[in-house]
Amino acid sequence: MAVTSDPAPETAPEGTTASGSAGAGSGLGELCVLMKLGEIVLKGSNRKLFERRLHNNIRNAARGLGEVKLTQRGAGVIILRMPGASDLKVAELAERMRSVMGVVWVHQVRRIAKDIDAVTDIALRSMAGRTGTFAVRARRRDKRFPMTSSEIAGTVGARIKEAVGLPVNLKRPENTVFIEVDKDEVFVFTDGMPGQGGLPVGMSGRGLVLMSGGIDSPVAAHRMMRRGLKVDFLHFSGMPFTGPESIYKAYSLVRQLDRFQVGSRLFVVPFGKAQQQLKSSGAEKLQIVAQRRLMLKTAEALADDLGAEALVTGDALGQVSSQTMTNLTALDDAVDVPILRPLIGMDKTEIMDQARAIGTLSISELPDEDCCTLLTPRQVETAAKITDLRQIEKRLDVEELAEHLAANTQLHRPSFLGDAAPAKV
Ligand code: ATP
Ligand code: MG
Repeated sequence: MAVTSDPAPETAPEGTTASGSAGAGSGLGELCVLMKLGEIVLKGSNRKLFERRLHNNIRNAARGLGEVKLTQRGAGVIILRMPGASDLKVAELAERMRSVMGVVWVHQVRRIAKDIDAVTDIALRSMAGRTGTFAVRARRRDKRFPMTSSEIAGTVGARIKEAVGLPVNLKRPENTVFIEVDKDEVFVFTDGMPGQGGLPVGMSGRGLVLMSGGIDSPVAAHRMMRRGLKVDFLHFSGMPFTGPESIYKAYSLVRQLDRFQVGSRLFVVPFGKAQQQLKSSGAEKLQIVAQRRLMLKTAEALADDLGAEALVTGDALGQVSSQTMTNLTALDDAVDVPILRPLIGMDKTEIMDQARAIGTLSISELPDEDCCTLLTPRQVETAAKITDLRQIEKRLDVEELAEHLAANTQLHRPSFLGDAAPAKV
C-alpha cells in the first residue's frame, strides 16, 4: 500500500443524464472511505509530522484487507480507495477506521466524475426511499469547478425535491446529502459514523499501562491512546496462588484495545510470591497499598527498559480504599516516573459507559481471581503513612525485588488482526 496521488476516475461516465446511469463502471460510482480529521488540522507547522503518523496508523489498521490507496486532501480529509474491492470489504475498511485515533468522522462515499448530471443521479439514488426533510451541503476543494458550492447545492436540491418529493430544511434536516468537489473527482455521501477523535497514537510518546482484569484500567488506556500515547500493558497475576484466569482476561482486553493502536505488547508478572513476602514483612493493614507500590516500582523498572516515559493507572479518586487522596500520594511517592490517571475525576457509572462504548465492559465483567484480593487484610488503611510503607519495604529490599520482577515477565502480543499483525511495534 502506498501513499499515492490518485489519477482521475478511470471509468468516467459518458453521456450520463440525471436519470440515466452514472459513476464508475457499476453505474453507482466507486465506493470509497472518506475521513474527516479533528485536532490534527490545528497543528500548524507540525501538521506534516502528525499526518505521516496518522497515515502509518491507518495502513496498520487496514492490514489484511487488500490494497488500499490513501490520499490526503487538504488539511482535514483523507480518502481511502480499494479499487475492485466489494462493497462489503469497503464497509469493513470503514469500520476499522472508526478505531483509528485522530479520525473524527468516517463516511462511505461514492466517487463520481466531475459531471453535475452524474453527481445529481447519485444524490437522487442516495435519497430514494427516505422520509423527512433534507438538505444538500456542497463544498469545493477545487475552486475551478464551473459551479459554485451554492449553485451545486441548489441544482441538486431542486432535482431531489422534484423527483423524490422530500421537503427542504436547511437548518435542521433529517437527511443530508454531502457533495465534495475535488481536483479529479466528486464525492457524494450521506450520514457518517463517528470516529474516536483525539490525536494519532504515537504522537505523544510511549506509556506503560498497569492493566488489571477490571473495568477501569482498559478505559484509562483508551483515554491515553486517544491523546496520542502509544502504550504497552503490564498485568500482575496472583500466580502461583491463583489460576491463570486473570491473565486470559488481560489478554482479551488488550486484544480489544489493540484496534485503537495496533501492535500491543502485554507483559505478565506472576506476583503471588512477592505479595506473600510483603505480608511476611508485616504489612498488615498496609498490605494493599504496599502491593500497589511494588507494582508501580516494577512498572517503573520495566518502563525504563521499554523507553516508556509515564505509567498509566485506572485510579479514580475515592473509588476504593487504596484510592483516597492520602493513599494516592503514598503511591506517587513510590516512583520517580509520572503516573497518569485519566479517570481520576470520573464516576464509576461514567467509566462503565465508556467501557461499554469501547467494547471492554463484557470482558472485564467475566469472573476471575484478582491478585489484589489475595491476602487482603480485614481492615484496609485509608491513610497510609509513607514512613511506615518505607519501613516495610526496607526489610525486603524492595528495589531489588522490583528489578527482579521486571526482568522476569512473560511477553504476549494480543492482536486484533490475528495473523496479519505487524511483526514489530
Ligand atoms: P480496575 O477496574 O482497573 O481493576 P479498580 O477500581 O479495581 O480498578 P484497584 O484494584 O485499586 O482499582 O486498582 C487501581 C489501579 O491499579 C488499576 O486501575 C490498575 O491500573 C492498577 N492495578 C490494580 N491491580 C492490578 C493488576 N493485577 N495488574 C496490573 N495493574 C493493576
Ligand atoms: Mg482492580
